[in-house]
Amino acid sequence: MIEFRHMQKAFGPSVVLKDINATVNEGDCIAVIGPSGAGKSTLLRCLNLLDPPTGGQIIVDGQDITAPGCDVSKIRQKMGMVFQSYNLFGHMTVIENIMYAPVKLLGLSRQEAYDRGVELLQRVGLADRTLRYPDSLSGGQKQRVAIARTLAMDPEIILLDEPTSALDPTMVGEVEAVIEDLARSGKTMMIVTHEMSLAERVSNRVFYMDEGIIYEEGPTAKIFKNPEKESTRRFFRQMRVLEFHIDSQNFDFVGANSEIDQYCFKNHISPRMANRISSVIEELCVQMLLPALKNPRIDVCVEYSKTEDHTYVTVKYPDDLRPEDCGDEISYKLLSANAESIDHTYDESDGSTVSISIVND
Ligand code: ADP
Ligand code: MG
Repeated sequence: MIEFRHMQKAFGPSVVLKDINATVNEGDCIAVIGPSGAGKSTLLRCLNLLDPPTGGQIIVDGQDITAPGCDVSKIRQKMGMVFQSYNLFGHMTVIENIMYAPVKLLGLSRQEAYDRGVELLQRVGLADRTLRYPDSLSGGQKQRVAIARTLAMDPEIILLDEPTSALDPTMVGEVEAVIEDLARSGKTMMIVTHEMSLAERVSNRVFYMDEGIIYEEGPTAKIFKNPEKESTRRFFRQMRVLEFHIDSQNFDFVGANSEIDQYCFKNHISPRMANRISSVIEELCVQMLLPALKNPRIDVCVEYSKTEDHTYVTVKYPDDLRPEDCGDEISYKLLSANAESIDHTYDESDGSTVSISIVND
């Protein structure tokens, strides 16, 4: 039904979508997930030509909608968009909001548009708000009206961009229920959301976006339970990553420490955990490894998982030296005190890897 072929989108010099290749089949409900800034909104806006792509193609029902001379308004009619911020007309009643486009663009009579509007309001549970103004509705109710308004145009596909993220938590449920009902009815949908439970419940497929591409895609259960790519896994575990490289005996540990502090502050990591992280790195890298290694090349990767409140520090160096054999007993004791576990592995091609796990207590 929809096929993205090497689609690109740049804003001036900044290439936001690099190479999008994907297919959306009729009846699919695609959850588009990924870190913020990954280009999820841009993908939806490219599809309905609010932001025309700057390269590649989008084929909709066999037609290249990026080709010159395409009837843009016809294409937009195929795609209903639901935004985070409802975008209802404040000077019109609920039913007028819903009747407006069908009368104007589809040529429905006012009676037809009205009847259909009432039916749709029943579907989203708001039949008793027909003649109210948007002002008098709660956020959840406004978003349900916005969904009814989108359905009134009978689009082939509905694009929802974080439809619940502006809502008070108490209202998320009522909007999610409407979205679930739509997905169950077999409507083709693409939904950008940070609500992982919603994504898991409504979608049959997931596009995980990162670095300007669809980094990984697949059936929902597979992506949620067993993603293949490391970046997808990190996203689900809400991993935050900090990396640095030590390449001389004069390594600036004060500078590294201030980077660790900033990383911890930004990710709401407790001061106790922050202290453990910095102490583990200082004892292992600065006190033990640096003086003992002939070739001072150490890669350090700190990964904090918010869902687990757990930090993993991975230290790699091209030597078979084991931390406990560095001959620095005090440092090894201090390291052990802050680590839940310390594992060392060595292999010819990769050198040593020390994996340290740190728990919060
Ligand atoms: P997401 O929805 O995944 O958070 P967006 O699609 O909103 O990400 O944005 C992706 C990137 O594109 C961001 O770095 C953003 O700053 C940039 N971007 C989005 N819209 C524009 C625009 N109109 N002009 C310039 N840059 C933009
Ligand atoms: Mg967005």
